[in-house]
Amino acid sequence: MTTRAPAALLRVISLGGAAYEVSGGERVHRVTWIEDDPGRSSCDCADFEYRGHQCKHLKATAAFRAADPQAALLDPLSADETLKLINPPAPRTTLRAIDPEERAIAVRALEGWRRELAAGKRTIYDFDLLWRVAGEAQRGLELEDLQPNAAAERFALAAHWCRQRASGRWDAA
Ligand SMILES: [Zn+2]
Repeated sequence: MTTRAPAALLRVISLGGAAYEVSGGERVHRVTWIEDDPGRSSCDCADFEYRGHQCKHLKATAAFRAADPQAALLDPLSADETLKLINPPAPRTTLRAIDPEERAIAVRALEGWRRELAAGKRTIYDFDLLWRVAGEAQRGLELEDLQPNAAAERFALAAHWCRQRASGRWDAA
């Protein structure tokens, strides 16, 4: 596994149920998140096993779930179901295509995250909504050649969250 330049963006992916995968660090780690009792959640990293308390992967998973009030509701759903819930029909009979505007919004947010990181305004452990948007954008970029429909959903979710932030700060060119 290679480290991705220029900066490691820790990303959380729901694997279904209580299982989450946190990637972007030196290794990929598996988190078991107990929603009813977060203190019983666990991670397979050494930090958690030896120190027995919250590691960065657990913090990232907690933030992943908390970043959006709907996250707990949305995470168990498939990306397609998520989009239906966020942006109710227009029923769709064809797969979603990448919307250039949504892609541009997502990419600008990812660039904004990188700029803030470079400027020392954040660390890779600041797990806020911009971090989450950046994660969706990066996943979209990774998927767009081979799975454009899946990428379109990542960009759409990132753009949706950006638009909900009325400030438009991340959209500034
Ligand atoms: Zn951990």
